[in-house]
Amino acid sequence: MTLIDTRTPDAKRLISGATGDWEIIIGLEVHAQVTSQAKLFSGASTAFGAPPNANVSLVDAAMPGMLPVINEECVKQAIRTGLGLKAAINHKSVFDRKNYFYPDLPQGYQISQFKQPIVGEGKVIVSVGPDRQGEFEDIEVGIERLHLEQDAGKSMHDQHATMSYVDLNRSGVALMEIVSKPDMRSADEAKAYVTKLRTIVRYLGTCDGNMDEGSLRADVNVSVRRPGGEFGTRCEIKNVNSIRFIGQAIDYEARRQIAILEDGGKIDQETRLFDPNKGETRSMRSKEEAHDYRYFPDPDLLPLEFDQAYVDALAKDLPELPDAKKARLISSLGLSTYDASILVSEKAVADYFEKVAAGRDGKLAANWVINDLLGALNRAGKGIENAPVSPDQLGAVIDLIKEGTISGKIAKDLFEIVWSEGGDPRQLVESRGMKQVTDTGAIEKAVDEVISANPDKVEQARAKPSMAGWFVGQVMKATGGKANPQAVNDLVKAKLGIE
Ligand code: ADP
Ligand code: MG
Repeated sequence: MTLIDTRTPDAKRLISGATGDWEIIIGLEVHAQVTSQAKLFSGASTAFGAPPNANVSLVDAAMPGMLPVINEECVKQAIRTGLGLKAAINHKSVFDRKNYFYPDLPQGYQISQFKQPIVGEGKVIVSVGPDRQGEFEDIEVGIERLHLEQDAGKSMHDQHATMSYVDLNRSGVALMEIVSKPDMRSADEAKAYVTKLRTIVRYLGTCDGNMDEGSLRADVNVSVRRPGGEFGTRCEIKNVNSIRFIGQAIDYEARRQIAILEDGGKIDQETRLFDPNKGETRSMRSKEEAHDYRYFPDPDLLPLEFDQAYVDALAKDLPELPDAKKARLISSLGLSTYDASILVSEKAVADYFEKVAAGRDGKLAANWVINDLLGALNRAGKGIENAPVSPDQLGAVIDLIKEGTISGKIAKDLFEIVWSEGGDPRQLVESRGMKQVTDTGAIEKAVDEVISANPDKVEQARAKPSMAGWFVGQVMKATGGKANPQAVNDLVKAKLGIE
């Protein structure tokens, strides 16, 4: 690929070395496992966690004379992903053999796409942040291509004292390799990019995005240069399988390269590995040892061809994607960019929020989901799939506030009870006597009591009307938080004779 610089150096992303500032350049090759029942060229199952070699067909084991047959579902998933990346879909693409020897690759080659991939150039908008001021900054990361290829099997070196075992369950599973342009300039940008890609494929249902199961992993290309100068020589860190590790690998690698360059050395183009225990990258092979894959079109497979109508039909059925959802939450519910960004970042959170917000005050729903629900989940170390409070239950809590049955403060207690004990919020309010006191007589009595007990404060409040808040607080306390705050406020002001 020809490298095109899309960005002007940005002071906040530069890192300073001993001899001045440096800019980090990052491009990622992300391998995303296609969500499909069967493998790319065989009918064997793709289910995760099966016993070794349970999901291996004769094709996956590369028995002589076996022929690959393309799985149309995987083709559709690749096209849908391409559409989600706003990318050009190529109506004709070609499968090539990428030849190399490895014990977990029984064919002796991987079927991949080289010169003619199924998806061409596209782009992803990535929100980087929030920074210390709570701001997000949008950057655009170019997509170079997306191609389909087979995964290899897995060698297991820890099962036997003198032998290695091979598990071919993954052999032949469909992967989408998504290659970015070298458009990222910091570890945070690269992490945000992978997070966004994962969000997009999860919305699309084309990859489950589970990095700890190996469904999504990245080869991380890193180089450094003087700000705005020529692109430097890159190193490629293979197979990094968590977003945190991607960040650590980039920071370590950039520092390593800067130290070499500042010392007058030069960077060797090489493939490196990240060691999560040490937080370091180390050399795996240099460019001289790089494989010559001798790519050629696979003679067992015809070129893959489809027409625009095929693409259009898939486009028509795409779900709403995170960018569009975010824009809609901002424009139609009046949410802040910050709130909308948080709510769309995980599909499960967005789905939960939309259930709560349906027919309700969107901003109030957003506050409850973000501050209360996500806050509590975070503290409990739980994911939204395991939230003890359902969208219906949270919706009911919000309804009770809106209709004035409970105060915002009591609602927090109610949320706690629903979280730990479950139950119908409306019935809980009845059975535990949590209803807000709107009876003016009762509130008036409490206000009178506070006023007569605090003559000095009354004097102060008349001189300084903001003191009224103190009285409101006292009355709320006296009524166990159940008085309607607006009614208390009105009465306090009336009785004190202040505006
Ligand atoms: P290969 O297949 O040999 O790894 P590609 O041309 O497919 O090469 O590029 C791989 C990745 O490396 C792409 O994501 C690209 O953006 C990135 N890349 C290319 N040049 C640089 C560079 N100088 N610094 C950082 N990343 C780079
Ligand atoms: Mg590469």
